[in-house]
Amino acid sequence: MGKKKSKPAPLPQSLALPYTGVESHAHLDLPPFSSDIEEVLKRAKESGVRYICNVFLGHEAWKNNRHLFEQHDEVFFILGTHPSHVDQCTDAELGAMRAAFAEDSRLRGIGEIGLDYYWDHFPRENQKDIFIKQLHLAKELNTRVIIHSRDAAEDTIDVLETEGFVDYPVLWHCFGGDAELAERIVKNGWYLSIPGTVTYPKNEEAREALKVIPLDRMLIETDCPYLTPVPYRGKRNEPAYTVFTAECVAKELGIDTEELWTTCGNNAIRFFGL
Ligand SMILES: [Zn+2]
Repeated sequence: MGKKKSKPAPLPQSLALPYTGVESHAHLDLPPFSSDIEEVLKRAKESGVRYICNVFLGHEAWKNNRHLFEQHDEVFFILGTHPSHVDQCTDAELGAMRAAFAEDSRLRGIGEIGLDYYWDHFPRENQKDIFIKQLHLAKELNTRVIIHSRDAAEDTIDVLETEGFVDYPVLWHCFGGDAELAERIVKNGWYLSIPGTVTYPKNEEAREALKVIPLDRMLIETDCPYLTPVPYRGKRNEPAYTVFTAECVAKELGIDTEELWTTCGNNAIRFFGL
């Protein structure tokens, strides 16, 4: 009559991947990590994650939280105003961002920026205006652009094309679209980063889309603490869990996990100039 115990999920370290992977999108300065960030970073390292991109949501976050990574050269940064916070992107904020890039060589791109029509916190014209201002800043600083686009792919691509970002270093973060969208992104010379949602049983369409992405354009991310991949779905996400996303993608593409891991890692190193 005893309750059947389910098998514990495998530890990310148990995949024994080489120290060649890159986690391309993490929010480690958010409260869910405040009590154990050192352990989280250690687990990432033990699982084969060589570099981690931490996303600062605005210049204040960068200023107040970058000290968390002082002893961690493996963490580099991007900084930008998310489309759900566009009211914070004043001229003063843009000026502070410009100054931050001049001061901190660990800042490797502007992001996540773009359009979010799912939450629709702000009028679309307002979101576009701030998106464009930050795109101009990226060009001025000659730095990369990391895109957040939710339910807004058409307009996001339209803005990027109109503003002259075809064949510019652009990374489409948290890609979860179909093969047609993947093809358009690839055709424009951009990169795509695959999140843990690709492991969810219902996301057949996202797994199909993987097949049209050239292997030299693909990165792997968590977007932690959100979007945790199977087998830890429902728990807090963390950089080490990129190994499970890589395992799923590799299986879908019929290649070794190790090869996929290292290839996506090398793509991130090239894209971010690490
Ligand atoms: Zn994010």
